Amino acid sequence: MTNRAVPRDHVGRVEGSGLCTQCGTCAGICPAGAIEMHWELRYGWRVAVDEARCTDCGLCLRVCPGETFDFRPEAPWRARNEGAPVRDFLGPWRGLWFGWATDPDVRHRGASGGVATALLWAALEDGLPGADGGRVRVDAAACARVDPMNALAVRPVVVATPADAATCRGSKYNAVAMNEALAHVRENPGRYVLVGLPCHVEGLRLAQRHSATLRERVVLALGIFCGWTAEPRATEITARRAGADAADLATVSYRGPGWPGEMRLVRRDGTERRRPYPDYFDRLMNAHTPPRCRLCPDALAECADISVGDAWLDRFERDAGFAEGVSDVIVRTPAGERLVKDVTERGLLTLLPASPDEIVVSQAEQIRIKRRVLRGRLWLRRLAGRPAPLYPGLDVRPTPGERLAGLRDAAEEVLFRTVGNLRHPSPSPGTTILTAPSPARDVVESTDPQPRASSLTRDAETVESDHARAPASTTPKG
Ligand SMILES: Cc1cc2nc3c(=O)[nH]c(=O)nc-3n(C[C@H](O)[C@H](O)[C@H](O)COP(=O)(O)OP(=O)(O)OC[C@H]3O[C@@H](n4cnc5c(N)ncnc54)[C@H](O)[C@@H]3O)c2cc1C
Ligand code: SF4
Ligand code: SF4
Ligand code: SF4
Repeated sequence: MTNRAVPRDHVGRVEGSGLCTQCGTCAGICPAGAIEMHWELRYGWRVAVDEARCTDCGLCLRVCPGETFDFRPEAPWRARNEGAPVRDFLGPWRGLWFGWATDPDVRHRGASGGVATALLWAALEDGLPGADGGRVRVDAAACARVDPMNALAVRPVVVATPADAATCRGSKYNAVAMNEALAHVRENPGRYVLVGLPCHVEGLRLAQRHSATLRERVVLALGIFCGWTAEPRATEITARRAGADAADLATVSYRGPGWPGEMRLVRRDGTERRRPYPDYFDRLMNAHTPPRCRLCPDALAECADISVGDAWLDRFERDAGFAEGVSDVIVRTPAGERLVKDVTERGLLTLLPASPDEIVVSQAEQIRIKRRVLRGRLWLRRLAGRPAPLYPGLDVRPTPGERLAGLRDAAEEVLFRTVGNLRHPSPSPGTTILTAPSPARDVVESTDPQPRASSLTRDAETVESDHARAPASTTPKG
């Protein structure tokens, strides 16, 4: 890294002010290849800018959801929703459902109802139903997978077959810079689906405003609800508490099989330790949340075409008939609507109608952390004179109770981080788990490096200027 006398205006600023969501969008889009995401046990994925390569184009800041995200009714990304009703917290929706994959194995092995994997399989096998009645071929999908070289790290992977997509199922409660995969999408012609958390989809939508290539190639975004992710250190501590040496782990799964499932810590010798979900996600693990998550208001992936989460409702949790899992399914755009209708008609997905209130009630904990605690934590940050993200269109004024909730959350975070450090001091640098991550540029691997569509040509990417206007809708054309 070269130090310059005059620092350039890039996402190093976002990283430095603690507002980075670790989404990876900047690394995925930088035309100079000047940004890498570096893994750290006590953080997750940290942005590193190579000043010598940076051309000062400013694109990384324009696609970054870390400092600000627009939730106003006229926000450009809302054009995709084509007039769908909007409600605070729920975001825009065209259809609300509870659902599960009809295939019992997909449902059983998914985090909740296996809906994400069922939709992904259908897209990879049969493409997406187009607006004109034809089908849009899907060549590959960007999903998240535990790093085979470092069980404490999660990485984006570009998969081209349902079998490969199946290796990504289940939630990973561990930070992942999903949008590094956008570099692969830019370099490899084809049509892609991106599966990601709310901040990943926000980054994608911002990037699509500046890149015609990404508008054309990413034809569907499947959003995963997110009530905060965790730093890798949370997994390490949980492993130690379960009696497993983190350096000896071959892989970790955080959810499934069944609902709500469990955490499985698999050692290299094949033996494993298990911890039931949600019990293992206690206050100690919760304290090891990336700081920017505590300032994040997007719970239900408002910018996605379809969003999925757990249907945490008594009527499902107490009924053994639903023990294999039920998902909340929010259909937000015409493209999402066509896909869900198609897979349901083909018997791949089973759906029950849901009301807006039921979906909101199923996410009561998210209402607490992504509204009440959020407002309190934003207030605290401003009080301390620290940079806070801006959310035009969102009411972030705290009530006295919310200020208290923010204070309590901050105190718990400090307390349980301290407890974690005292009871489970970090391994010294140089142990296996700290040296294992693969080189940053290999983060996005493709199991099918050649796009399947023979007609695909290697396009020159079009990155538009700041003032370029995205089309009203990026609905895929058949
Ligand atoms: C960090 C995190 C926090 C969550 N918080 C909530 C919550 O508060 N409330 C709630 O109802 N649901 C939450 N979810 C979603 C829930 O756990 C399930 O992922 C969701 O219901 C989808 O289940 P499924 O069975 O349909 O998906 P599956 O068929 O199991 O497929 C899961 C898909 O999600 C992708 N994925 C998994 N982990 C990540 C990740 N970290 N980043 C990007 N993509 C990933 C995988 O690539 C896979 O394609 C959270 C998920 C994560 C990863
Ligand atoms: S684009 Fe994402 S990874 Fe890059 S600085 Fe912004 S929030 Fe962080
Ligand atoms: S300013 Fe441009 S060249 Fe520099 S890091 Fe950002 S995107 Fe890359
Ligand atoms: S809470 Fe979830 S969506 Fe928000 S910044 Fe953190 S990982 Fe991203």
